[in-house]
Amino acid sequence: MNQPETVNPEVLNSTEEPPLISSPVPSAVLKTPLEGLESIPQIPKRVIIVGAGVAGLVTAFELLRQGHDPLILEAQHRVGGRIYTLRSFAPGLYAEAGAMRIPRVHDLTLEYCRLFGLELRPFVMGNPKSLLHLEGQRLTMGEADSEPERLPFELAEHERGRTYTELWDEATREVRELYQRIGEAALQQVIADYDKYSIREFLKMRGFSEGAIELYGIMSFREANLNAAVIEQLREIIGRAFDDMQEVVGGMDRLTDAFYHRLKRHVRLGARVIAFEQGEDGVTVHYATKAGRFSETGDYAVCTLPFSVLGDVDATPEWSHGKRKAIRELNYNASTKILFQTRTRFWEVQDGIIGGTTATDLPIRRLVYPSHSDPEESRGTLLASYTWGQDALRWEAMDPETRIEEALQQVAKIHPEVLEEFEVGTSHAWYEDHYARGAFALFEPGQETLLQDDIQRPEGRVYFAGEHCSLWHAWIQGSLEAPRSAGGCRHEGERPVPALPRGRRRRVHLRHPR
Ligand SMILES: Cc1cc2nc3c(=O)[nH]c(=O)nc-3n(C[C@H](O)[C@H](O)[C@H](O)COP(=O)(O)OP(=O)(O)OC[C@H]3O[C@@H](n4cnc5c(N)ncnc54)[C@H](O)[C@@H]3O)c2cc1C
Repeated sequence: MNQPETVNPEVLNSTEEPPLISSPVPSAVLKTPLEGLESIPQIPKRVIIVGAGVAGLVTAFELLRQGHDPLILEAQHRVGGRIYTLRSFAPGLYAEAGAMRIPRVHDLTLEYCRLFGLELRPFVMGNPKSLLHLEGQRLTMGEADSEPERLPFELAEHERGRTYTELWDEATREVRELYQRIGEAALQQVIADYDKYSIREFLKMRGFSEGAIELYGIMSFREANLNAAVIEQLREIIGRAFDDMQEVVGGMDRLTDAFYHRLKRHVRLGARVIAFEQGEDGVTVHYATKAGRFSETGDYAVCTLPFSVLGDVDATPEWSHGKRKAIRELNYNASTKILFQTRTRFWEVQDGIIGGTTATDLPIRRLVYPSHSDPEESRGTLLASYTWGQDALRWEAMDPETRIEEALQQVAKIHPEVLEEFEVGTSHAWYEDHYARGAFALFEPGQETLLQDDIQRPEGRVYFAGEHCSLWHAWIQGSLEAPRSAGGCRHEGERPVPALPRGRRRRVHLRHPR
């Protein structure tokens, strides 16, 4: 396999002062939660937004603040989409089926949390007391870090005695240094250099032995995704996506609920969108409820449906060839979470583990412990298994009861106390979720170059937004960029006119933007 072109040495060797690491979103976008979208005198528009995940909610929220008239059509009877806090536990207990943590650098996400007064606290990632269970052996993460030679992998001479993070940091040093020097522009260069490579190919190019690739796959939880595009991961490293994580106290759904409470009148629940129909002057969105078929017409529409779902929705006229290809081909990763409620938090009592992750070579792959210990509550919820890729699909193939039974037996190999302490369990497999049909977009090698323009491009009066349209796949931050992605529906193709005062809005038909 060819080595990718290396980064421009002139850039790396530049003597100029390295810029500060910039935030992953431009400052104009970052101001949105506090200041709203820029105020432009214009005729208020009726915008039909499809999907009440965080992308749809933030779009409606910002359009409303700008004086427009948004309406969200959401198929389910709840808002939030892949932000999904499960509360089917003892009173007060909850667990996250979807998003659970926010990196400190995800400033846009944190700004909206601040705007709504949500309380945040640290989400523990690394914990030396959490465990590693490989080939039946149980070590603490602290032991694995200080004595890496105890791990059962056949490493090459130059890899022995080194931890997987040391190996990975060395493999990605060049990319990180480039970012330190040239900031966001590094992303373009990284894409150009590495878009066509999978994680496995990248590691091989960096001289990893098969044993080191296996070590990396197990410890980073990416063993089932080694064939995914490496740029997804390089971007996360550049964006420091796993540094200093936060969680929302009370559950991640507090964020989407906060949007909803400000938008109630503009949300139609139980409305499954089945077709878009565009004309010269507007777009009609057809939807089905238990009571029949209905439609809503707007000046524009913003579609936040994952492409895994959008394929089933009709469009008249048909989406462009490029959009149809992107809808068909964009790769979606699988993820399954299995969650237990236990009578006591035995992991805290027996092993002193508060927060962090246990890694295993068992089908459950990893356990995630709650980051906070509540002295008033003896029970706890444990993320007994969090899987991606084909690991997740294997759990999905089981019925929900079997998932719990199997996961219990596997967790018991690490924490035998679980058999005594288990009370109830639940699970969520995102590929079988009818309204997600996948956990998150995850490029295959080459897909960013091939598909990204078509993924984002508006089709006439329909704009596209959401996690899959941003390059921050699998993060709330990407979805929160939605009002900007849908920017054209706010000011394209019109003569500016003074905004109408509230209560005097009228429906207007604007010239087609193209
Ligand atoms: C397992 C998992 C773990 C994650 N962990 C994190 C994390 O720790 N931190 C983080 O920042 N992000 C995380 N994410 C990613 C984050 O949850 C998503 O990026 C984000 O919630 C996606 O929001 P969205 O609005 O773009 O899409 P969605 O939330 O999918 O919203 C789409 C909406 O459209 C609705 N819909 C579907 N079909 C129709 C239809 N026909 N008609 C009308 N409505 C329809 C759906 O019901 C849904 O409400 C995780 C995701 C998963 C699945």
